[in-house]
Amino acid sequence: MLTIGLTGGIGSGKSTVARYLGDLGALVWDADKIGHALYEPGAEAYGDLISTFGREILDPAGLVDRKKLGAIVFSDPQALVRLNKIMHPRMFERMRAMVARVRAEGERRSIVIEAAILIEANWQPLFDRIWLVVASREHVLERLARDRAMDRKRVEARIRAQLPDAERRMHATAVIENDGSLEDLLARTAALWRETVARGAGAD
Ligand code: ATP
Repeated sequence: MLTIGLTGGIGSGKSTVARYLGDLGALVWDADKIGHALYEPGAEAYGDLISTFGREILDPAGLVDRKKLGAIVFSDPQALVRLNKIMHPRMFERMRAMVARVRAEGERRSIVIEAAILIEANWQPLFDRIWLVVASREHVLERLARDRAMDRKRVEARIRAQLPDAERRMHATAVIENDGSLEDLLARTAALWRETVARGAGAD
């Protein structure tokens, strides 16, 4: 049983692969959702978020309003750095504790955590394997226009703001190329799963 970090750029196909790994028998978590749980009153990040960004990030019920926080950090790169400094180490610690807890409770499935920012956040030490999903710029633009009605300019800006795939590849233990059909993607994912988890080093 392994702990696998699944990463890749916008629209590369991470969520599709993550869903499929769940079908193949992995326990799958989403790092974004784990991060959002830390915003809750009493959770690890709540106090620091308020002392850093002020009570204006709260809604009338005292919950962190992610839209308000997003508006601050996406218009101010320094604010984004401060947010990441609060969130990334706490997310790492929360994920580490979650893995330890389920293992202690006897969980035997491999755990996959989908994390777009895995490498930027330096979460590599959490994982036995890092799987990277890559697709060409043209495929990403075409798929996000088709499935999410995202226009080319917006997606290109997001791609420019991300870590380049060339850098991600340096950290990956396996790369899932996603320039073919969905069937190809699922077949590659199944092959990788079989060779690393179902038989291979991770078999229990
Ligand atoms: P994000 O980081 O933006 O959430 P993602 O990396 O999780 O994106 P997905 O949501 O899995 O990417 O894929 C983006 C879109 O492209 C989805 O609508 C998905 O169905 C589609 N898609 C992924 N792979 C393929 C493929 N090989 N052929 C056709 N469509 C695909």
